[in-house]
Amino acid sequence: MKKIETDVVVVAAGLSGLAAAAAAAENGARVVAFEKANTVGGAANMGMGPLGIGTKQQKAMMVDIDVERAFKMFMDYTHWRVDANLVKRYFENSADTIEWLEDMGVEFAGAYKYFPKSEQTWHIVAVNGGIGRNGGAIMTKALMDYAKSNGAEFYLEAPVKKILKGSDGRICGVIAAGPDGEEIEAVCKAVIICTGGAGDNPEMIKERIGYTYREDMFNFAIPGLKGDGILMAEEVGAVRSEMNIEMIYILPNSDFGPDCVPAVFMQPNLLVNQFGERFIDEEQMQNTTFTGNAIAIQKGRVGYSILDSSILRGYIKNGPDVTNFVHHPESVADFDDVVTEYIKNGNPDVYKADSVRELAGMLGIDPDALEAAVDEYNEMCGSADTKFYKSRKFMKPIVKAPFYAGKFRPGAYGTLGGIKINTRAEVLDKDWNAIPGLYAAGTDTCAIYGDSYMFLLPGNTMGYCLNTGRFAGESAADYAARD
Ligand SMILES: Cc1cc2nc3c(=O)[nH]c(=O)nc-3n(C[C@H](O)[C@H](O)[C@H](O)COP(=O)(O)OP(=O)(O)OC[C@H]3O[C@@H](n4cnc5c(N)ncnc54)[C@H](O)[C@@H]3O)c2cc1C
Repeated sequence: MKKIETDVVVVAAGLSGLAAAAAAAENGARVVAFEKANTVGGAANMGMGPLGIGTKQQKAMMVDIDVERAFKMFMDYTHWRVDANLVKRYFENSADTIEWLEDMGVEFAGAYKYFPKSEQTWHIVAVNGGIGRNGGAIMTKALMDYAKSNGAEFYLEAPVKKILKGSDGRICGVIAAGPDGEEIEAVCKAVIICTGGAGDNPEMIKERIGYTYREDMFNFAIPGLKGDGILMAEEVGAVRSEMNIEMIYILPNSDFGPDCVPAVFMQPNLLVNQFGERFIDEEQMQNTTFTGNAIAIQKGRVGYSILDSSILRGYIKNGPDVTNFVHHPESVADFDDVVTEYIKNGNPDVYKADSVRELAGMLGIDPDALEAAVDEYNEMCGSADTKFYKSRKFMKPIVKAPFYAGKFRPGAYGTLGGIKINTRAEVLDKDWNAIPGLYAAGTDTCAIYGDSYMFLLPGNTMGYCLNTGRFAGESAADYAARD
């Protein structure tokens, strides 16, 4: 076994691990990071940007959100069932973290909303000077380069297998599997766990959160996110802590295909359950968490978005009513062609029929019930949505064949929580005492949203991961320097 010695070991080099490595290294610690994958960045490479509050981008765009308002909003939303001190520290540091990233060369296109009712907290990383997908990868590279410039070392394809604890109760190292098969023992003063949750561990999701992968939960199962850090922390005495899912809703087989399909079905169209009954003000479809929640409590955990050819014609002519940066096609003119092709290939997400009754038959809904629901909806289009008070501008009658349906299911970006930390990112044991030398950050620890991901302040997971990563890096460097 190869043996190395350092001050701080960071377990994983995703977003929080990179922030932790960068912060520990800039605070004078010798840092070694072990990453399971053959590249750094984790899920963050697929994302667009973090939350910031009170940033210069917001001031330049005349956005008036500040820490006080965001904090009050957040704590109202979570009913104070989450760690208020951690939330406060995260928000207070978020603007400085945006500047920290800028100092590393990361450019932001500005501060944006995710949907109209959300706040402009989403600092989208500029891609070629503008808004593009996957700017997260630019940010993770900058973090790695910065950490390296301060002496941090990275081992890729080197998953950590075990955290070592001395007989004095202090954490004293890790065992990792090196890329060449040889095990590495890294002796250190502090370990920071940042393994990104258990999105790729269906058994753990089933056991701890209650969903069954690809039956009633179609989460992004990003390879390698097995909950390793949570399990290793528990092995060295961390208290088992609540876990949740970062809920969204999704067309499982069409979300990564041509954008026109999710973009059209995610409009505030009529949304019904397996009984043909409306269950939400469809305007909420812009808030992917709320709609995911509502779908998850329906029979079979399904929601059908229904529209007709005249509504589609409007979206083609005028553009969709609601846009978002994730599904943002230049035009939806190809919608019918793509749906037709999908149906030919047996894609179970999409349906097309010549009548509402025929559509109901395809969806397994009682045709009388769906017809009645559509009739009731159409009637309200002429006056007002007296059922759920959807804005009139989104009330469009469903009258003209062909009729389309998209079958939405619950999805998730990943899991949230599992390891309990305090505001210094120290890992707590069963008596809520800090385990000496053990720190954690990122989604492995993220229990600040309560029962539902807080999308009203977008960029929230990356924001939390970056900021807790920094807290963990600073705390671990401080601890290593003292001991
Ligand atoms: C498609 C998509 C888009 C998103 N967009 C946004 C967005 O725009 N804004 C936002 O706020 N959030 C977004 N998110 C969420 C955000 O990307 C994640 O919350 C964030 O990356 C989590 O950071 P993390 O450090 O906890 O985990 P990750 O960044 O996923 O990193 C975890 C790392 O741990 C490694 N690992 C696992 N086990 C081990 C082990 N035993 N040893 C060593 N390494 C290990 C993994 O290989 C991985 O690299 C998005 C997520 C997805 C999937």
